[in-house]
Amino acid sequence: MNTPATLAETRDAVVSGARSAADVCREALARIDAADPSLHAFHTVTAERALARATEIDTNRARFRGAPLAGVPVGLKDNICTNGVRTTASSRILETFVPPYDATVVTRLHAAGAVLVGKTNCDEFAMGSSTENSAFGPSRNPWAADRIPGGSSGGSAVAVAAGMTPLSLGSETGGSIRQPAAMCGVFGLKPTYGRVSRYGLLAFGSSFDQIGPVTRTARDAAIALGVIAGADPADSTASLEAVPDYTAGLTGETRGLRIGVPSRLLETGVDADILRAVRTAIDTLRARGATIVDIELPHAKYAIPVYYLVATAEASSNLARYDGVRYGLRDTQNELGAMYSRTRERGFGAEVKRRIMLGTYVLSAGYYDAYYLKAQQVRTLILRDYAQAFERVDVVAMPTSPIPPFKLGERASDPLQMYLADIFTVSANLAGLPAVSVPCGFTADRLPIGLQLTGRAFDEGTILRTADAYERDTEWWKQAPPIATR
Ligand code: GLN
Repeated sequence: MNTPATLAETRDAVVSGARSAADVCREALARIDAADPSLHAFHTVTAERALARATEIDTNRARFRGAPLAGVPVGLKDNICTNGVRTTASSRILETFVPPYDATVVTRLHAAGAVLVGKTNCDEFAMGSSTENSAFGPSRNPWAADRIPGGSSGGSAVAVAAGMTPLSLGSETGGSIRQPAAMCGVFGLKPTYGRVSRYGLLAFGSSFDQIGPVTRTARDAAIALGVIAGADPADSTASLEAVPDYTAGLTGETRGLRIGVPSRLLETGVDADILRAVRTAIDTLRARGATIVDIELPHAKYAIPVYYLVATAEASSNLARYDGVRYGLRDTQNELGAMYSRTRERGFGAEVKRRIMLGTYVLSAGYYDAYYLKAQQVRTLILRDYAQAFERVDVVAMPTSPIPPFKLGERASDPLQMYLADIFTVSANLAGLPAVSVPCGFTADRLPIGLQLTGRAFDEGTILRTADAYERDTEWWKQAPPIATR
């Protein structure tokens, strides 16, 4: 497959009149038609709406001249609410749920000229690292269809990797944008906690959740972040901090940049091909004038247990709202208590139930201090590790995932094995920091590898600049998978 057009190329073609938005939209829909039967990136394709919207953009071209996403087809993770379009979170409990409102990010995408083409597959309620927890079947990795695409925003990463859309939005609680981006060979950005409004994002872990873009390049992510970021009266945790022009900072300049590498952390458990690719990527940045500094993140080794205690606690509380009364599935039991429990028994999958039970347990009176409180204290220590590191460096570099995409089913029966795949991603969520994954190579089996760059809070600019500079020296991001079409 030729390298599919980037977001910036697509937008420029529409704005200049070289291509119509309708033509771009039809091409995206045709690609979905051809490749999605084998990949399952999408739950819902809104073809009619999308074409109507694209035509509207074409007839009002002058109005969209300055629009940053004019005519750009977008896939949205199916846990982001869309007015009038089914939003399932890949759960039976929301299988027929049609939100009566748009998430703030959706309103902003629309205003910027984007064309929403559909809703993408994910792990149920964003709980997972492979999309195998989707109630409607997994997505497949376009680089190897017998392998997982990563998760939980697997469908969003597949859509971009397979050239269906140049942009999709995912959500992160513990790595769910970066990890599938790494495993599908595309770019993923998890913004600083509070950078993007969570209004209309179905809640999982409210002190972690953030929406962010999956794209082919750092520049495309910078454009998308500029559109979706910023204060929102509907979400009090959305920061008032001004939104800079993220693309203006993409100067290619990396001289004087200090990059921290936690080499102790990488000593065990990292796949050899991944370690090699990440070391080479760091050398590339050194050759561009960056200084590489060895750093310690002494508490990072506790990130997995801390994350899975706090995130499950928050999930157990957030998911209490699915009671069969207000929305979604309702069991037909007459007695109220029985209706609640039958609805939840039928509507939630095994992983969601496991987390609700775990979360309820760690919040229970007898165990709160020992688990939840302790985890929150260690969360503070992890945050301090980063604060100390960022006194000496501007960026922290490491692999996004310690392992390449594994075979479907390989880890599905062992939740702990699945959780361990998140070792390098969850600490940015625990500390609320921005982080990206940028393609940095392939394993011997030609499976994509991602380099993770973490930055200071609200300093998305520096990690985007670093990633963009890295892309100027490398061609990994230009590689496209061989797609089996039916
Ligand atoms: N894999 C992690 C989990 O299962 C992260 C999920 C996410 O970021 N939404 O919780």
